[in-house]
Amino acid sequence: MRSERTALSWLDDRERERREAGLRREVRLRTPGSALIDLASNDYLGLVRHPEVIDGAVAALRRWGAGSTGSRLVTGSTTEHALLERELAEFVGTRAGLVFATGYAANLGAVTALAGAGTLVVSDAGSHASLVDACRLSRARVVVTPHCDVEAVAHALQTRTEERALVLTDSVFSADGDLAPLPELHRICRESGAVLLVDEAHGLGVRGAGGRGLVAEVGLAGEYDVVVTATLSKSLAAQGGVVLASDKVCAHLIDSARTFIFDTGLAPAAVGAARAALAVLRREPQRAQAVLDRAADIARIAGVAAPVSAVVSVILGDPQRAFEAATMCRDAGVSVGCFRPPSVPVGTSRLRLTARATLTQDELARVEAVLADVLAIAP
Ligand code: PMP
Repeated sequence: MRSERTALSWLDDRERERREAGLRREVRLRTPGSALIDLASNDYLGLVRHPEVIDGAVAALRRWGAGSTGSRLVTGSTTEHALLERELAEFVGTRAGLVFATGYAANLGAVTALAGAGTLVVSDAGSHASLVDACRLSRARVVVTPHCDVEAVAHALQTRTEERALVLTDSVFSADGDLAPLPELHRICRESGAVLLVDEAHGLGVRGAGGRGLVAEVGLAGEYDVVVTATLSKSLAAQGGVVLASDKVCAHLIDSARTFIFDTGLAPAAVGAARAALAVLRREPQRAQAVLDRAADIARIAGVAAPVSAVVSVILGDPQRAFEAATMCRDAGVSVGCFRPPSVPVGTSRLRLTARATLTQDELARVEAVLADVLAIAP
């Protein structure tokens, strides 16, 4: 008898393959009042429950309603969106800013508006998935260069036939937590007339004076050929994304970035929360250094090299082993990230531990005890 194959039977095959490779994923629900110590989230500054951030969200919600009611160019832009854009641009050091519904949408919108057929896009092999997807959508010729390989970027730019070029990189890479060589990248971009787009998702709030980000730290904020993108969902404890650039670039994006034009504007509560989080960070700039200090504590406990961002990676190699180690941590009261392919290259599955400015010495002592157990057993 003919086996019963349907249009979606291939999904069963894929599911089996992923299960056998230790790559099944689960949606894990957080429950209210959980006592887990959080080393998994991106709430780097510990602001997600800060009373002023909650109040900022509630006040915006009450003033403007639950949703933004339309796309940014129709009804989805409130005066509060404009204030957030101005405040973020001023904080990072650019002339202008544009808020998007997510960081993902900010990257898609910025890249596709700045690159098209006739543009060369050069992207670091470690660039975030949203930049990878943006490359694909852009219809530009795309060259992916080895991770942090400035020579390879220079070569791609110098040998191009296209007049225009756009270089893409994360400032802080999300999986390893390492830093892009921004001054060198900018120098070769400037020499060959290319634009440098830097995703500061993991740099904002952590690197730079008072958390202004790595672009500001290396003195590139406000340069005409540098475009910064960021998310409001990590250090700024809210949701949403932003592009920070010159007036000219932002005006171009308003007219042509499809995720700006066709996506519904960011919800007012998220705008209010992000503004309040930024206000707290401005008042308490020491939070940024505290994240780096706590990351150093975590790295010492885990026995890995000193980190340069909030992200501490403990590479275990095998996905199943990483999964089991993460499960053991959670069972022992510590929530950790577990990154496996395709989020990281094959053979580099890992625990991803993220620091939070507000981690206490008691919490760190508990983490030390748990990691000692798990890492002694897991490898
Ligand atoms: N860029 C990087 C480097 C990220 O880590 C993320 C979030 N995981 C994004 C962009 C996307 O941001 P958002 O979650 O706001 O869409």
